[in-house]
Amino acid sequence: MPHRDQRDTLLQRLGIEELNPAAALGDGSWRSGIGGFASIDPAVGEPLALVQRATPDDLEAALAAACRVFRHWREVPAPRRGLFVRDLADAWREKKDELGTLIALETGKIKAEADGEVQEMIDIADFAVGLSRRLEGSVLASERPQHRLFEQWHPLGPVAVITAFNFPAAVWAWNATLAAVCGDTVVWKPSPKAPLSAVAVQRIADEVAARHGAGGVFTLVLSDETWPVERLAGDARVPLVSFTGSSHVGRAVAPLVAHRFGRCLLECSGNNALIVDESADLDLALPAILFGAVGTAGQRCTTTRRLFVHEARLDELIDRLTRAYAQIRIGDPLEPATLLGPLIDEEARRAFVAAVAEAQAAGGELLHGGNTLPGHGFFVEPTLIRADNAWPVVQRETFAPILYLMPFRTLDEAIRLQNAAPQGLASALFTSDLRRAERFLAAAGSDCGIANVNLGTSGAEVGGAFGGEKETGGGREAGSDAWKAYMRRQTATINWGSSLPLAQGINFRPPSTKPPVAS
Ligand code: NAD
Repeated sequence: MPHRDQRDTLLQRLGIEELNPAAALGDGSWRSGIGGFASIDPAVGEPLALVQRATPDDLEAALAAACRVFRHWREVPAPRRGLFVRDLADAWREKKDELGTLIALETGKIKAEADGEVQEMIDIADFAVGLSRRLEGSVLASERPQHRLFEQWHPLGPVAVITAFNFPAAVWAWNATLAAVCGDTVVWKPSPKAPLSAVAVQRIADEVAARHGAGGVFTLVLSDETWPVERLAGDARVPLVSFTGSSHVGRAVAPLVAHRFGRCLLECSGNNALIVDESADLDLALPAILFGAVGTAGQRCTTTRRLFVHEARLDELIDRLTRAYAQIRIGDPLEPATLLGPLIDEEARRAFVAAVAEAQAAGGELLHGGNTLPGHGFFVEPTLIRADNAWPVVQRETFAPILYLMPFRTLDEAIRLQNAAPQGLASALFTSDLRRAERFLAAAGSDCGIANVNLGTSGAEVGGAFGGEKETGGGREAGSDAWKAYMRRQTATINWGSSLPLAQGINFRPPSTKPPVAS
């Protein structure tokens, strides 16, 4: 049982083997909750470890700590808050291999991608450190003499960060590092499918926080129940709820936050399309399609799920793709030669089986795969199906390595089909024609939050803002000016003159308060 041996040394090296955690208060103290639930190793279908389930008192303790610490943290100068995040990044650099292995064990993503996830945490932390010295407002021209009009940004408060299983550490880091430099505190409710990764990340953060007087900036609540999310969404002490997960759950969480006029940052489902036009360089397109459709076993929000191919290139691309699919090594995510690990759980495997059956019943032609693999792990074959964009199965996100392939005649038709989906996260066009590239990126082109030319839908850098439109939720995280979501904007005007002119030239003064007329 190699995974079990690896697990024991790993948990020891990450310092979490003896924790019995349900909640962390961010100052090194843990609460033990009640009952327990298992983190399952999806490659073997067996428990990796048990964690505890937080009680309402545990959640209240974490939230109370986040509120209390916020009152102090918001007054720490931003560049000093950045030093805390800088040291966090260094701690992640040191523990990259261990964290990557734990993420691979717990989610089933291959080690190279799991290490990439830790690298993404480091990258966003580096970005946040730079940001901590340039959180900027703007000075605007006032219409009134001797007045200064400007905008400034203040810390917002405790932020609830609710995360999905597929990026069990990086999505928290995207939110938490920006929130921390912005002067906010964070209450994290991770996915119950990947609690150990969260515990390991929290443990590292606690150590670094202790050196920076930042205890309680990051807190954690573990549960496999829905009430903690509902509680956080409905609590007016939490000005921002950052939710990453399915559109189905996002649709339930958002109204709870809106009802109390809180803010929601929604990063929900994707159903991403890649278009291969007549002039495309297939040597570029092919590896992009493979990584996009098969990487992370099709369990990325940016996974390529729909492939539109110009009819003139269809036969050639099908031939090359099916040959490449046949070479994909499926197996242990910790083996370096593996390209496709397991799905997260049995439910995901059932959803795969159901989607393949539904596509075939609708008339889909199975070009590759379509089967589950025997054994206790949740393995499936990478699957390629010739389909129709209008079928309900193609319109919804099935979190599995299924790629629906569809021909088109004109680029306008392909863009129309691509946009004809409820989600709007990532999109890509492969072309050697500059005019078509620009057409794809123009206002009437892709309607997605991410639009790439000659690279795939998957694997964004942290420098740009990340997120999508329509049922993907409209949120933006990571780079660019995404930090503004974690702060409150204040418009301020200072009158440094000795009269009180009103805006719009309004005269509002009873005669007795008029200045005396000079004789
Ligand atoms: P999920 O919606 O099942 O769970 C997300 C979070 O919500 C988890 O913390 C979970 O415990 C909680 N939750 C689940 N059901 C709930 C309920 N009924 N009430 C309250 N909370 C609930 O998502 P998942 O299966 O963990 O992740 C996959 C989904 O996340 C996919 O749809 C994927 O596209 C999306 N995702 C989006 C992004 C993005 O940036 N757009 C990134 C990663 C994942």
